[in-house]
Formats: sequence, C-alpha cells, structure tokens
Amino acid sequence: MQSNVNRLSALRDIMRHSGTTLTALAPGAHMHWVLGYHPHPDERPTYLLVGPQVAAMVVPSVNAQDIGSRVDVPLHVWTDEDGPSAAIRSALVAVLPGGPVRVSLDETMRADAALLLLDQLNAAERCFATETVGALRMHKDDAEFAALKTAASAADHAMQAGFAALRPGLTERQVADAIRAGFAKKDTPSAFCLVASGPNGAFPHHSTGDRVLQTGDAVVIDIGGTTGGFPSDMTRMALVGQAPEGYDDVHGIVERALQAAMAAARPGVVAKSVDKAARDVITQASYGEYFVHRTGHGLGLEVHEPPYLTATSETILQEGMVFSIEPGIYLPGRFGIRLEEIVILRKDGPEILSSLPRAAFISA
Ligand code: ZN
Ligand code: ZN
Repeated sequence: MQSNVNRLSALRDIMRHSGTTLTALAPGAHMHWVLGYHPHPDERPTYLLVGPQVAAMVVPSVNAQDIGSRVDVPLHVWTDEDGPSAAIRSALVAVLPGGPVRVSLDETMRADAALLLLDQLNAAERCFATETVGALRMHKDDAEFAALKTAASAADHAMQAGFAALRPGLTERQVADAIRAGFAKKDTPSAFCLVASGPNGAFPHHSTGDRVLQTGDAVVIDIGGTTGGFPSDMTRMALVGQAPEGYDDVHGIVERALQAAMAAARPGVVAKSVDKAARDVITQASYGEYFVHRTGHGLGLEVHEPPYLTATSETILQEGMVFSIEPGIYLPGRFGIRLEEIVILRKDGPEILSSLPRAAFISA
C-alpha cells in the first residue's frame, strides 16, 4: 500500500489542480484510503478535513483516545455536552488558507454531518470527493493488486464449495450456506451470496430463498467476501444435472459478450466503449432487451466503486484500474445467465483474477 503521506500528497495535488481548498471526509472508504484506517461510523459527527497544507480531524471525545493512537493528524475534540460546532470551527481555522472555499465533500457522509459542516462554510463552492479521493482510488497499486488476488482466490474456493454441494432437492439457501462455509475456510466473511435457480435467475438481484433446486435448473451464483479488508465479486453458472432448453446458445452469447468486452478494455479507451462491445454482441444475437444492467463496476476498498462501465460513462480507462466485466441475459420465466470476472487493466489488456473456468458447472 502507498504510505499515508504519499496518499495525502497525491490528494493535495489533485485538489490543487481542481482548485479545491478543502476535502471533507466521513468515516468510510475514502477516509480509510487516506489514513489506512477509519473510525466506526455513527451519529456523532467525525470528519477528516484536508486543506492545502494542514489536515485535522474533528472527533467526539468518547473516541478521541482510540483515534489519536491510530492517526498522525491533530484532533479537534468535542464532547456530548458541548456538541461539535466549536470543534468544527477551530479545525476549519487550522486547515483553511483564507479566501474563497471550494470543498470536495465525501458523498457518503451523513446528511446531518454534511449540513453541519456546510453551514460553517457559508456558501462554499462544492463538489463530491468522487472527483478527488475517488479519482485517486481508481488507480490501484501492487499491494492492492495482491490483496484483491488473495480475495479472488478465496471466492474461487467458496464457489467450488457451492458447486460441490449442488444437487436436486437442496434449497438455494442451503447452497448459499455451503458457499459461506467455503469462504469461512479462507478466513473470509461472506459479504453477499446470490443463488438464483431456474426462473429466479431471470432476476439479476434475486434474494436467495427457499426454492428447491430441480433437475434441469440453470443456477446463477454471484458471490463475494471480504479477505483482509478487500472484497471479491464473481459470478458463475451451474446446471442441476442438465441444461434447460436453449441454455447452451445463450451461455455462448454471454461468453462472447464477455470476451468482446475483454478485447475492448485497453488503457486509453472510454468506459462506455467496453459496455458497447459487450452490448453489441448481445444485441446482434437479438437478446439486447434482456441485458438489463451495466457491463461492470470498479472494485477496491468497496465492492462497487468507480469506474462504472455503463453505456454513457466517459471515464478513460487506465492501466492499474480494477473492475468487473459481467454481461448477462435474463429470460423471464425461464432462466438467467451472468458471467462475471474481476480484472486488473494492464498495459496490454485485462488480467483476470479468478482461475475458475466460465463454462457452466454441471452437478451429478
Ligand atoms: Zn459485480
Ligand atoms: Zn457480482
């Protein structure tokens, strides 16, 4: 991981270029990226305020000792009795250079904390921290690549545990239990576990439930865990005994769409061109109306983060970005098919983190 000093200085560079005089972050992924740590988010306003030269934190007294032992930033402490206003004011005096203020505000900050801060900044010009910290977070370093690969390999293990359990008569929930147990063997809490069988597969975000698997079901399995603070996300297909009618053709189309997106993903291209590459394959096969979501999303400290690979995204993809490629076709009343890889964008194209094949697994 880059040191916190490097990350703070990278943040100040991007603030300078965008004319931003203050970055205000709440406990969450942005703060974690900058500090390597974030306090537990709750209702007590807590901020990291980064100015052109000076940074400060506003923290409630109940957490001050713990935070102070973990970060190397001056703390402006407030008590439950007095409330946070005076601490916010003193921190702003310490970090702001004077003159007009342009703040980049953490888009995940609670509205009460955000308004409390903005009220003290009187009509500052503002943008979201997606433009500052978010832009920096899109570029991963070698330590992050390694952490994401470890997370991906835990997901591969969990997926195989799900495959091994698969048989007619089991419920979706029981397959999910087997997957969670697979994650647990890799010291990885499961973050989400979607098992969508038969017609349920036609709902891209089906809630895993009590449907009993039957011979001839296609099953969408989309899983992710958190390994050492980093997420995984992958989707594979499984067949209970045999494929439903028409399955192989549609799987082939989704696979070709995924490969087209892989071939289109190169440093320097706009994200929407990768979405288009996948979508064109599916549209030309006459299934365009059944591909009902974007082609991919970034993945780093969070399982969904920029860049987003949508039909309209103008984000320029660059070497070192990490994102999913996950086209799908969802046929109401029949089945759904999604295939999802997480890739690191290298100079010459995407490197896939998973080592599992994308052909459908067929249970006994
Ligand atoms: Zn995904
Ligand atoms: Zn997924």
